Amino acid sequence: MVNEKFKKLGTNRSAIRELFEYGKKLKEQIGEENVFDFSIGNPNVPAPTSVRESIYKNLNDNTVHAYTSAQGDVKVREKIASYDSAKFNLNLSADDIYLTSGAASALTIVFNAIYTKNAEYIVIRPYFPEYKLFIEASGGKCVEVDSDENFSLDVDKISAAITEKTRAIIINSPNNPTGTVYSKEQIFALCKMLSDKEKEFGGKIYLVSDEPYREITYGKEVVNPMCFYNDVITCYSFSKSLSLPGERIGYIAVSPKAEEKNDLYAAICGAGRALGYVCAPSLFQRVVADNYGKTSDISVYEKNRDLLYDSLTSYGYECVYPDGAFYLFVKSPGSGNSFFEECKKRAVLVAPSDDFGVKGYVRISYCVRTETIINALPIFEQIIKLFK
Ligand code: PLP
Repeated sequence: MVNEKFKKLGTNRSAIRELFEYGKKLKEQIGEENVFDFSIGNPNVPAPTSVRESIYKNLNDNTVHAYTSAQGDVKVREKIASYDSAKFNLNLSADDIYLTSGAASALTIVFNAIYTKNAEYIVIRPYFPEYKLFIEASGGKCVEVDSDENFSLDVDKISAAITEKTRAIIINSPNNPTGTVYSKEQIFALCKMLSDKEKEFGGKIYLVSDEPYREITYGKEVVNPMCFYNDVITCYSFSKSLSLPGERIGYIAVSPKAEEKNDLYAAICGAGRALGYVCAPSLFQRVVADNYGKTSDISVYEKNRDLLYDSLTSYGYECVYPDGAFYLFVKSPGSGNSFFEECKKRAVLVAPSDDFGVKGYVRISYCVRTETIINALPIFEQIIKLFK
C-alpha cells in the first residue's frame, strides 16, 4: 500500500515537467537543433566564471562536505544579511536568514511554519503552479485571486478575499509566468491594506515574497516589501540569478521588524527539521557566499526578450510586455489548446497556461540560446496564419 495522494502526484507530473521530459526524448529522436524547447525556466546563460573558481577553491577544504548548522553556516548567513541590509536599507542579522535547497524548499518550509488550523493562503492568478501543491501539502487551503487587467496586483480583490483564516499572501515579482514587475505604488498599497487587515482581524497576515527573479529585471525597480510592511518573509533562490537550478540553493529571510520574529524563525527551523532538510548543500552555501551580489549575464535575456516580443507582436500575437524574469506570456490564438498543439506538432514546446490557473495563454520561457528563438520565429509566424 502506498499513499494515494503522493502516488497521484508522482504519476501525473505537471504538464510543464511532462513537456520538458517530452522535449528531452524528442531531441534524442530528431536532434537537438530541431527542437525549440521553451518549456521550463532552465537558464541557458552559464554561471559566472567566479562560481566555478569558488567551487574549485572550496573543494580544497576537506571540511566542505560536512553538515553545517541546520539554518546554514553562520558566516554565509552573515554575508547575506549584511549585503541585503545595505542594498534594501534593512537591519537583517544572520539570525533572520535560513539557508534552503532553493526557493521550492523555502516556500514549503514557510507554508508549514506558519500553518494553523484552517489556514488560507492567497495566490495571485496566474501563479507558479507548485504554490498550490506546497500549500495543500502543508494542510492549507489555496485561495486564488485574479490579477488586474495588466497582470499586476488588484489590491481591492485581494482585500476582498482576506478572512480571519488568511495566514499569508504570496507574491512573486518579477513574475513567473507573466514577467510583470509590481510597481512601488502597488506594493505600498498592498502593504497598507495588509496592515489595516491585521488590525481588523487582530492576527498575523504574512506577506510571502517569492523572489527567484529579483535581479532579472530590464530597468524597472524591484521593490522589497520589507521596506513597507513588518510581517514579510522572503523566499529567495540562486537558481536563476546565478544559473544554478540543479544545485538547489536559496534562503528564507524573516523581516527583523516582524512582531513574532523569534517564534517565526524558530518555527521555520522546526519545519525545516520536520521536513528532513537537515541543512542546505554545504559546498553551494559557500559558493553563493563567495558570489553574493553577482549574477549571470542578464543582457542575453534582455536581447532574447526584445527579439521575441518585437517579432511575435509584429506577427499579430498579443503578448504581455515582460519587465523582468525570462518568460513571455502570449494569448493563444484560436480556441482551447489548439495553438499549443500546433506548436507541439512542429517541435515548438511552450507551456499551456492552465497549470498557472488561467486559460487561453501559453508561456514561452526565453532563457534559451538566441539562435533557438531565431530559428523558431518563422514557425511562430506560420502558425498564427492558421488562426486568421
Ligand atoms: N518560485 C517561482 C516563481 C519559480 O519560477 C521557481 C522556479 O522556476 C521557484 C519558485 C522554485 O525555484 P527553485 O529552483 O529555487 O526551487
